[in-house]
Amino acid sequence: MENIDLIKKAAEVRKNSYSPYSGYAVGAALECEENMIHAGCNVENASYGGTICAERNAITNMAADGMRKIKKIAIVGGFADGSGDNSALVPPCGVCRQVIREFCNPETCIVLLAPIDNLEKITEMKFADLLPLSFGPDNLEK
Ligand SMILES: [Zn+2]
Repeated sequence: MENIDLIKKAAEVRKNSYSPYSGYAVGAALECEENMIHAGCNVENASYGGTICAERNAITNMAADGMRKIKKIAIVGGFADGSGDNSALVPPCGVCRQVIREFCNPETCIVLLAPIDNLEKITEMKFADLLPLSFGPDNLEK
């Protein structure tokens, strides 16, 4: 899938964000090695700790569909009511970086970020640049 289409898919699923506490809505869409698209939005919880990020929801959707490798992941976000700085990129949090790492090759996996107010302005990077010297499944291989 073209980068812009994956970004648009992330923006589309972002509309389903359940974020009554932060008001911060995030969407993620990923393309797996089987060229299927899996998407997720952030889902907050009154306990706060039960909140799940958009990226991890997209990844668990991929896993539930039986796929295991992320080729490309797109993330967009911002305040749902349009307030604040909507020209900012929304990079994955530390927990999500580790979970993405579980299901990707850091050297080939691509991360796409775009401001919610300008989806065409895509920043593209290699996952290894977001999480250098990462610990992953290969570390546990004997
Ligand atoms: Zn996260």
